[in-house]
Amino acid sequence: MEKEFNFNKYWGSLLLEPHVVFRRNSYMYCVYCGEKAETREHCPPKAFLLKPYPTNLPTVPACTKCNNGFSSDERYASNFIECLAEYYEDDNVNAFQIAEGDFEEVRKAKEAAKLFVEQPFFDDKLANVFRKVAVCHAAYEISMGFHSEEWEGVPERISYTIKPFMPQKEWEGLEYAEMINNEPMPEMGSRAFRNIYVVGIRGWSIKKEKEVMIPVVMVDWSEIQNGFYKYQVYFKDNKIWVKMIFRDFLYCEVVFASKNDYT
Ligand SMILES: [Zn+2]
Repeated sequence: MEKEFNFNKYWGSLLLEPHVVFRRNSYMYCVYCGEKAETREHCPPKAFLLKPYPTNLPTVPACTKCNNGFSSDERYASNFIECLAEYYEDDNVNAFQIAEGDFEEVRKAKEAAKLFVEQPFFDDKLANVFRKVAVCHAAYEISMGFHSEEWEGVPERISYTIKPFMPQKEWEGLEYAEMINNEPMPEMGSRAFRNIYVVGIRGWSIKKEKEVMIPVVMVDWSEIQNGFYKYQVYFKDNKIWVKMIFRDFLYCEVVFASKNDYT
């Protein structure tokens, strides 16, 4: 029997209501398409992690169709990243041989990585995987961005780059915490919520004519696997920002704009 979920019982804020979709055994909706979800999907997908996998990986509901549809693309993306990282970071001349498995998408990933080295290009398949992972993170962390009336899981922008293309200082600067003063907080108990902290910065008060401490709310990165996968999710300026660093090598930013104005 399917159980409908009682919204009022758990959340007061309309903004937080969608979180009910994550309750086990309750009626769940696919975060990608909004159809009924029969499965749960790990975020980040295991394709981007090393064995042994971290325990307690976050999961979000997904329908079988969406869940299966992405696994081949994930394999493509992770092999693509791996080949490039080997080539640029480790000067590995055999970088394009390392990808494993007798899969069509692995062969395609190797070919694409080779082409990328000759002439960098924006890979739509890669971007689609980033979009999908970003939807997962946003859904899990802040209950936003997934398929619903306000959000369609369609980003306003997807961009990515790799470490060798950036000045080192800039790359290191990516890992700073983000200031999210006066914005809705991440979901209670989510990873992002545990990465929230408040710091005091010194400022000058014109009214009081003296130096004051101003509290600032910061959201830090969530590290899933040390040096291998980390991400940051926050809501700011009426947009959802999802930032991901794969293998300490590829940086990706996905920005979702809402149809509603939350400010
Ligand atoms: Zn679906």
